[in-house]
Amino acid sequence: MDNQKVIYWFRNDLRLHDQEMLKSLSGQGYSIIPFYCFDDRFFSETDIGFPRTGAFRLKFLLESLHILTRQLEDLGTGLIIRKGNTAEELLKIHHQTGAKEIYAAREFAWEEKMIEQEIQKTTQLNLILHEANGLFKESALPFDVDSLPDIFTQFRKKVEKHLNSINRIDSVNALQPLPANLDTGKDISFEDFGLAEPDEDARAAISFTGGEDAGLKRMNDYIWESGNILTYKKTRNGLLGKDYSTKFSAWLANGSLSPKKVIAEVNRFEEEHKSNVSTYWVKFELLWREYFRWVARKYGARIFFRDGIKNERNNLRQDFTDFERWRLGNTGNDFVDANMQELLQTGYMSNRGRQNVASFLVKDLSVDWRWGAAWFESQLIDYDVYSNWGNWMYVAGVGNDPRENRYFNTRKQAERYDADGKYRKVWLKR
Ligand SMILES: Cc1cc2nc3c(=O)[nH]c(=O)nc-3n(C[C@H](O)[C@H](O)[C@H](O)COP(=O)(O)OP(=O)(O)OC[C@H]3O[C@@H](n4cnc5c(N)ncnc54)[C@H](O)[C@@H]3O)c2cc1C
Repeated sequence: MDNQKVIYWFRNDLRLHDQEMLKSLSGQGYSIIPFYCFDDRFFSETDIGFPRTGAFRLKFLLESLHILTRQLEDLGTGLIIRKGNTAEELLKIHHQTGAKEIYAAREFAWEEKMIEQEIQKTTQLNLILHEANGLFKESALPFDVDSLPDIFTQFRKKVEKHLNSINRIDSVNALQPLPANLDTGKDISFEDFGLAEPDEDARAAISFTGGEDAGLKRMNDYIWESGNILTYKKTRNGLLGKDYSTKFSAWLANGSLSPKKVIAEVNRFEEEHKSNVSTYWVKFELLWREYFRWVARKYGARIFFRDGIKNERNNLRQDFTDFERWRLGNTGNDFVDANMQELLQTGYMSNRGRQNVASFLVKDLSVDWRWGAAWFESQLIDYDVYSNWGNWMYVAGVGNDPRENRYFNTRKQAERYDADGKYRKVWLKR
């Protein structure tokens, strides 16, 4: 008798490690059809004139899928890749294979949830969601999500101790072959999105290459090989080079690296080698990532509202001229411009830079923060819906910042973090 066929819909979990559900399905003998869809709504044009997914992130995503495909082929199966409307494409696979159940990682953001609902309503297929991309499952949180503290520190204090129990992370190492005659799809490339492959800028902080291999390698280098993790707390506000911070963000964003895997590895390093305030601080920052996921779960679409989750009215303007000056790094403020140039030319910017340019757009230029968030969404290789909109709300004063009227004085920040002007020199050199 044929094994029962099910679809595994890959979303932001483009990896084989930390895939509890996939592993369990394969252990139960299901015939799994691995599936990915470039959903058109994430590749459309924004109202302000740039693509929602820009060329840098697209490149990283294509590389990540290429690696995942190869890994699945090595296991004797493959990846069905489609472009279009996810629900419609899943329905076609159902018609071709008879698979009635779809397994996928649950997301909390509004559009991602809309897609889930569309699948459930329009296809009548059974969508079974599990939690794969955070550190904690909702059922393991020591509070009800509706009571998630609005202040990060309170959240951290409640959950931090549970990080210690994140240890061994397994990988999927066996899957049944794909059903015969199932077309895996044509090669999808830049042209399909009307974008050109971006050139690599020699000044880039790091060369981000998509895929689980490269993500695990970066993790291994940063933690074990170089031991840079031991000085993270001191260097993390840096602006130049690959080692002032982990650079894990891009792999974490599309799930080619799982946050649990990183925590498990840091725990192991602490146990077997050394533990200090810097090793702790990497975990601390990953809790920020986790926090913004739960903020989105609690507040839903409000993370995209002008007045944010605080429902705080503001008089921000939709001034296109000022926005374009900011977006293209032509504001006349050299620290802001250098950071915006880095983002424009490479798809990455340091955390220090992000805080400064976001504050400048909102507090100095009084431009709608959502436009800034939209530009980051387009341009950042490591764009993550929760971290991006959560941080933007925070800087704009409509999110989780308990302090009123926080303001980054970009001149003072430049003096402090780029005292010799080296960073500005790199990026303002034309
Ligand atoms: C306006 C603004 C927008 C941002 N947009 C994004 C985004 O789209 N995607 C994204 O991953 N991060 C975003 N961040 C958070 C942070 O800037 C990046 O995670 C970080 O710079 C990525 O580099 P790294 O991996 O070397 O970070 P590290 O300093 O090495 O931190 C380790 C990891 O901790 C997490 N982390 C660190 N700081 C934060 C933070 N403030 N919020 C949430 N998680 C954090 C990330 O997963 C990061 O990879 C944003 C910050 C700001 C101020």
